[in-house]
Amino acid sequence: MLQMDVAGLKRAVGETSCYELQAALTPLEVRGATVSFCGPVKVSLVVSNTGEGLLARGQVAGNLKLTCDRCLELFQYAFNLPFEETYRPVPGGEAASSGSGKNDAESVTFSGDILDITPEVLNNIILALPMKALCREDCPGLCPHCGRNLKAGQCDCESEKIDPRLSVLKDFFSREKK
Ligand SMILES: [Zn+2]
Ligand SMILES: [Zn+2]
Repeated sequence: MLQMDVAGLKRAVGETSCYELQAALTPLEVRGATVSFCGPVKVSLVVSNTGEGLLARGQVAGNLKLTCDRCLELFQYAFNLPFEETYRPVPGGEAASSGSGKNDAESVTFSGDILDITPEVLNNIILALPMKALCREDCPGLCPHCGRNLKAGQCDCESEKIDPRLSVLKDFFSREKK
């Protein structure tokens, strides 16, 4: 969980604090597939108490294990994303029907002294995932005929199209007709 103690900050309007967070997160469910992290997710944030709430800005970095859409191999995908979110403290906490969650488009509410930014960080990561995951830009993918991974080298499919045995057979039939 990516959590920070904002006990002091949330009572000090105009104050700014820096946070370096790091956590091993559970795999994501994205478009029906499970995507796991390689190593921890690191977040560096500058959080300001604006009087309206806590404005958190910074970067989210880490690595995911993605499956290449062309060759179907797992590869490591590094991400480094900007993060910006406003958290509005809810007095008491119990007053709100749900403890935390989006109340409007601009801010997320929270209660207590510990701010858990994990849901918003995960959301950012999911939104930034590439539509097409490629292990490398020029991945040649798999051969449509034999399924061989062409990254490991050419298969024999090209030469099979002009298989010498077939031409011999053709010759045989043409000779038969004569
Ligand atoms: Zn690939
Ligand atoms: Zn092939």
